[in-house]
Amino acid sequence: MDHQELWKTVLGEIELQISRPNFLTWFKNSQLVDKNEKEGIALVGLPNNFAKEWIKNRYHKIILGSLRNIDGSIKYVNYVVVNHNTPVQVPKQSRKPKDAELTEEKNNTPITELRVDPKTNLNPKYTFDTFVVGSSNELACAAVNAVIDNVGKKYNPLFIYGGVGLGKTHLLQAAGNVVMEKYKGKVNVLYVTSEKFVNDVVWALRNKRAEDMKKKYRNVDMLIIDDIQFIGGKPATELEFFYTFNALYENNKQIILSSDRPPAAIPTLEERLRSRFEGGMIADVAYPDYEMRLAILKTKAHSHNVEIDEKTLEYIATKVQRNIREVEGVLNKVLFYEQYKNEKIDLKKLDDIINETAQLSPKNITANEIIKTVSDFYEISQVDLTDRGRKQEVVEPRQVAMFLLREILKLSYPNIGEKMGKRDHTTVIHAYEKISKEITTNSALNQKILLIKERLFKNV
Ligand code: ADP
Ligand code: MG
Repeated sequence: MDHQELWKTVLGEIELQISRPNFLTWFKNSQLVDKNEKEGIALVGLPNNFAKEWIKNRYHKIILGSLRNIDGSIKYVNYVVVNHNTPVQVPKQSRKPKDAELTEEKNNTPITELRVDPKTNLNPKYTFDTFVVGSSNELACAAVNAVIDNVGKKYNPLFIYGGVGLGKTHLLQAAGNVVMEKYKGKVNVLYVTSEKFVNDVVWALRNKRAEDMKKKYRNVDMLIIDDIQFIGGKPATELEFFYTFNALYENNKQIILSSDRPPAAIPTLEERLRSRFEGGMIADVAYPDYEMRLAILKTKAHSHNVEIDEKTLEYIATKVQRNIREVEGVLNKVLFYEQYKNEKIDLKKLDDIINETAQLSPKNITANEIIKTVSDFYEISQVDLTDRGRKQEVVEPRQVAMFLLREILKLSYPNIGEKMGKRDHTTVIHAYEKISKEITTNSALNQKILLIKERLFKNV
């Protein structure tokens, strides 16, 4: 049995012992790097430090057990971060969600795309006038503005990350538009999706047109690549990107990147690229709170020149929480019914619209689901999570659960306290504030919360 086969069999065993979401999250890109027959040591490779630490702390026993079951000569397991790994094929899904996201992006591209400037790929519909700034995106906005005023000199690269539909593309495009206007075209901007970049690289390789590729990407003053996570794991593209990146960087040209997750969490990204990304400024866009969703709805309604009943907007802002794209989708439907069909939208109709547009909105998410998802993620029992025991390892999961109950469901502090083992509301406030503060500096914690939210919202 070679390493790959052995590992596949081991994964098969592990999969039976842990939940599927946990399996996919942590083992998707694992591999058996080496096996020292003489000393009986297996070396397991993980894509990044975060995954390595997590797996070592949580799954070591399971891994060792499964390895020994299959290969009795193994006595120890060590873990390493593998920079350039070929991902192990996990049956079903694994790459699917990415493709789905890309398609979603395309389907949502409206006809105004026609006005995109082919030289820059900038769409004038994305402006700062229509972009609402709130607590969830203010850091990212401030960073973008600093870059606009100091192209290539201040934060380079600027790396913006956050979940789907939270405004990354809007922000990046708006930045490009402002730079074009502010510097009267003297600063050349080029915006591409990473999909486009990949296609260009493939095309250039196939047609031996590397020079064209260079010309296109290295003669710009500001290169914006959207959804950079998709270049991870494609060696030729990563290499080309690495050269492009260095060429631009060394000439003080501005690079702005977006991704659905921080560099450390792009599993297939080569280490040297990751460290380049981390060398600049990293800012996140988070889930918008109620006030912000309402402000966005008002801005959008205003830009369509229509008056919509305040109560309706408030209702939408309360119900649709998952992302701004969905908030917008619901609003567009309401506008459609009111303007073109002249139908008055009552509460029942509004509910229908919300249900069909924002199918996965957290209206379906209950406190119990949050508690269950958190305990499943941390692999502790729900009893331990909500119990009054004081075990050190349940402190973080508990605080995270309280934080999410507040953030997603807006439950009152006493109510959360009640659900979490009859704790005092001051304990809940403390937990909420602690986690809110910590996620801005502790990227591992932030990453965990993103992963938990992803499970909740995607129902994986
Ligand atoms: P992402 O690139 O993060 O997936 P988009 O930039 O495509 O998200 O945003 C999705 C939709 O939500 C777009 O129509 C965008 O205009 C809108 N949107 C996102 N954030 C904001 C915001 N802060 N203010 C106004 N509109 C926003
Ligand atoms: Mg986008």
